[in-house]
Amino acid sequence: MTGSRRILFTVAAALSPLIFATTLTLWLRSFHVCDAISRSNWTERPLDDEARQYARQKGFDANFISHGEGLSFSTFRGRIIVCRGLQLNVTSRWDEDFEKKYVNNPNWSRTVTDIADMSPPGGELIGVLGWLGFGDTETQYAGGWRSSYRYVSLPLWLVAAATLVLPFAWVRRALRTKHRRNNGLCPSCGYDLRGSSERCPECGNVGASAGQRT
Ligand SMILES: [Zn+2]
Repeated sequence: MTGSRRILFTVAAALSPLIFATTLTLWLRSFHVCDAISRSNWTERPLDDEARQYARQKGFDANFISHGEGLSFSTFRGRIIVCRGLQLNVTSRWDEDFEKKYVNNPNWSRTVTDIADMSPPGGELIGVLGWLGFGDTETQYAGGWRSSYRYVSLPLWLVAAATLVLPFAWVRRALRTKHRRNNGLCPSCGYDLRGSSERCPECGNVGASAGQRT
């Protein structure tokens, strides 16, 4: 591991407990409230042939397509649900207020909803995996010209556990290095340095065990 990589590893390992604590808090909160952050991005597009045909079928005079893309992360009863949505509408008249507020103005918003007041979001899998909190579903809504939403859900306990992998690896590494130093082995590769010079003949590590030998 090079110097800068080692620093990155240490920083990530040091930050992990913070992420772990945050995930744990979200997990506990998720049984009472749904924390959500979402981003929506609306743009308008010129009509294409397919859209024109759809508008003709519906019997109205369409001028353009409103195109909306959304991404959201929400917590619900021990799970985190990532949703990606796409909504296309054929529109004849442009709503100026809507345009000012949303079009070409992507924004993030954060909401907190009491879960007693809401229906479960998508992303559920039946069976043991679903019970554990895993899910992946795709929904096509009838509303709009074309719309689809994909929900992927993961159990928050798994996310919390994953944030502990780095700190554990860091501690293991630190213990291994200490063990190698105390036993006259090269700290970076474990080669036996007793009786060799300061430079490790195996990996070239300089000053590996100088002064550490007993
Ligand atoms: Zn070595």
